[in-house]
Amino acid sequence: MRIQLENFTKTFGTTNVIEDMSLDIASGEMLALLGPSGCGKSTTLFAICGIHKMDGGRLLFGERDVTTVPSQGRNVGVVFQNYALYPHMSIYENIAFPLKIRKQNKHDIDRKVSAIADLVHITELLDRKPAQLSGGQQQRVALARALVREPDVLLLDEPLANLDAKLRLEMRSEIRRIQQQTGITAILVTHDQVEAMSMCDRIAIMNKGSIVQLSEPRYMYDNPASAFVAGFMGNPP
Ligand code: ADP
Ligand code: MG
Repeated sequence: MRIQLENFTKTFGTTNVIEDMSLDIASGEMLALLGPSGCGKSTTLFAICGIHKMDGGRLLFGERDVTTVPSQGRNVGVVFQNYALYPHMSIYENIAFPLKIRKQNKHDIDRKVSAIADLVHITELLDRKPAQLSGGQQQRVALARALVREPDVLLLDEPLANLDAKLRLEMRSEIRRIQQQTGITAILVTHDQVEAMSMCDRIAIMNKGSIVQLSEPRYMYDNPASAFVAGFMGNPP
């Protein structure tokens, strides 16, 4: 689904954290929000999922204006850095949970959980508990739980930050594969430009609450619009 953020502003106390920010994300696109710590990436995701109210601007999911719709009324899948699986539930129950609270029937739940488990390659783990899984496996479960109710948009906030280098490489291509196979619109928040370049269709570079450049990865790499962008794209962390 197409996601449009128009003239978004956000203030905490007297500080303008986001200043007149606009984004237009095509259906099926994966966009990176890339920028240094504190530039407003997570604040933007929190506004899109409805955890934070917007102080100004508009948010559209397709044709639907969701600016004032509370988070329960939005169909958004989230995977955040400190993804918390429910420790006392099996993997099956973790993934089924978003469907159970929406009172779907058992047959539909079974069908959807097995389809998504198949897609993210965790079919053989459904009877286990989260503590019995590796970090990468838990991340796959978190993705499955976010995707099982076919959200309008998938929000990923530094999803690879807690993984070791080898797993991070593997999960980069896995997340991209899953995003492309489902055709879901996705926003990836990261401060790692290699991650943004390798996973996303376009990159929005943020600095101090504004987007300073938005383009395809290769174009941005070759044509940085400012010294800030050049420095950010050119210096792997
Ligand atoms: P990023 O995700 O890019 O690292 P954030 O969106 O988390 O940045 O934060 C952007 C700015 O807003 C930072 O300066 C942060 O200190 C401030 N901020 C975030 N959340 C709050 C809050 N609940 N109250 C006050 N300031 C906040
Ligand atoms: Mg953040």
